[in-house]
Amino acid sequence: MKFKKKYPQKYESLFLFTNKVVMIRFRIICRKNITIMACIFCKIASGEIPAKKLFEDDKLVAFYDIQPQSPVHFLIIPKHHFASLNDLSADHVHLAGHILVTASNLARETGIDQSGYRVVFNTREDGGQSVDHLHAHILGKRKFLWPPG
Ligand code: 5GP
Ligand code: ZN
Repeated sequence: MKFKKKYPQKYESLFLFTNKVVMIRFRIICRKNITIMACIFCKIASGEIPAKKLFEDDKLVAFYDIQPQSPVHFLIIPKHHFASLNDLSADHVHLAGHILVTASNLARETGIDQSGYRVVFNTREDGGQSVDHLHAHILGKRKFLWPPG
């Protein structure tokens, strides 16, 4: 074989291993990109799908929920695709804080800060997550039960 002539035997397994790692990483990146291309909240973040937005900056978008569960119900999403809270790490502390401070600011702007509100991150199946893009629900202007249903 050409490869064997050109390189010593010991490099062959290293070459095959590296090739395999590159192919696996390529497949993971492709799968992630397909997920992002189909993600409804990525499309809202990019403006491809319209939404009634309350706030937007380079990192976040806040918009009203299409099926409100309370008189005030909006969502805050990062523009970057994270499937859920599970995808956050120590690298994302600033982003996580930014989501919460934005929730507090928008609660004041929508007039629910004094009466009270609930901030919810539904996560995965048991948490009731239906859209696999990290989002915070901010719900107000009605009383919520505890424990939640
Ligand atoms: P989850 O069930 O994942 O915690 O919350 C997803 C929320 O996104 C639901 O409350 C649902 O009504 C809302 N939602 C789903 N699709 C759209 C959409 O296209 N536009 C808006 N504004 N909200 C959506
Ligand atoms: Zn997304």
